[in-house]
Amino acid sequence: MIEFELTEKQRFVQQGAHMVAQTIIRPISLQADREHKIPEELLRNLAQMGSSMSAMPREMGGDEEVDPAKDEKAKKPRQANRMGVLGAEEIAWGDAAVLMTLPGPGLGAPPVRANGTKEQQERFFAPFRDTTVLRWGAYGLTEPGAGSDVAGIRTTCRKDGDHYVLNGRKCYITNGGRAIWTVIFATIDPALGRAGHRAFVVEKGTPGFVCSKIEDKIGLRASETAELTLEECRVHRDNLLGGEARYEGTTKEGFMAAMKTFDSSRPMVGAMAIGIGRAAYEHARDFVKANYVLDRPIPRYRAIAEKLARCERRLAAARMLVWRAAWMADLGLANAKEASMAKAAGGQAAVQTCIDAIEICGAHGSIEDGEHAFLAKWFRDIKVFDIFEGTGQIQRIVISKRLYEGLKAF
Ligand SMILES: Cc1cc2nc3c(=O)[nH]c(=O)nc-3n(C[C@H](O)[C@H](O)[C@H](O)COP(=O)(O)OP(=O)(O)OC[C@H]3O[C@@H](n4cnc5c(N)ncnc54)[C@H](O)[C@@H]3O)c2cc1C
Repeated sequence: MIEFELTEKQRFVQQGAHMVAQTIIRPISLQADREHKIPEELLRNLAQMGSSMSAMPREMGGDEEVDPAKDEKAKKPRQANRMGVLGAEEIAWGDAAVLMTLPGPGLGAPPVRANGTKEQQERFFAPFRDTTVLRWGAYGLTEPGAGSDVAGIRTTCRKDGDHYVLNGRKCYITNGGRAIWTVIFATIDPALGRAGHRAFVVEKGTPGFVCSKIEDKIGLRASETAELTLEECRVHRDNLLGGEARYEGTTKEGFMAAMKTFDSSRPMVGAMAIGIGRAAYEHARDFVKANYVLDRPIPRYRAIAEKLARCERRLAAARMLVWRAAWMADLGLANAKEASMAKAAGGQAAVQTCIDAIEICGAHGSIEDGEHAFLAKWFRDIKVFDIFEGTGQIQRIVISKRLYEGLKAF
């Protein structure tokens, strides 16, 4: 049957991450938000703790265990996704922008892992083994005219001898300015739709590849969000993920590399949202405990108690969806629908909880400094979670498409 108890190792990760979040991340959170910058010392410490390696395959120096779907000899299913969501909720409870800035290949890892050859994986992951140097990878899919509509990317790649020449613009790329490489999704011909997509690893410093802007956001202000421009940027064919043979015929390998990322990243994003929502819920709960005696028969008190109960229920339900999606990813089961459910539920539960927490604290809750300063920050941070990695509406479309797969209306 089903067990909801965490293993000893999982509890260790959860408790360890919480301790780190409470003792060294939360204390710098407000200042990092104000200064749009996370102290390098903190990132260095977190990198040394090994947090940045979790996205990489174990044979490349990371924590990820063998994928049973790919290796039949593997005895134990991997734990990377389950460990990932447990850790992500706790670290985001401390500060989500710190989590998004952890050194490592980040969102760039899944497409390299899924589509890269062994040689490419070795080449692109190797620099991250040295955790004494802060290094990041990035994932460049979104464009000014193609966010939700991923199939509509317009960045082009033109073959020229041993190189591809890339032209286009990518926007809202996390850690895009500081990344040593970015996986750039481009098309050989926009008319081919998904079949035209190719995934390249473009290294920082490649002529024609520049960071053209760093965004000033309402939330997650300490996390870097960049615009990247590619102008006649020549990328060697060795950096085409999977090599040319992989894209022969009308295959959608490039598009699939982009989508595959979401199977593991959406549960993570759901977990991060729950971490922020839980932080806001706990803050409001402690405020209420200190200021109200909830069993008194005052209607307003009853309304507050019910609001708190709803917050806790919403977060707990979303967490179950996140854990299920992560568990499926670890077992190598197709989880696109469940990953979308986890992301949609986590984002929604946390957005509503942050709103409720502010309402519970009244006017104090909306002030940017003072005892409730965190509430204002979490309120600004959480909105983004309903947008990136696919908006709430897009998750609902993914879910409904899978529910009615095969029906003509879709
Ligand atoms: C902080 C942050 C970090 C990010 N990091 C990255 C990153 O590292 N890499 C990367 O590639 N991208 C990144 N993104 C981009 C993000 O994934 C996109 O913003 C997101 O996919 C939404 O795309 P869009 O902004 O173009 O909105 P649009 O697609 O223009 O959507 C606008 C609105 O229309 C709705 N909509 C769109 N299509 C439909 C439809 N068919 N049916 C119903 N409603 C629809 C949407 O739900 C939304 O409400 C990041 C964004 C942010 C804010």
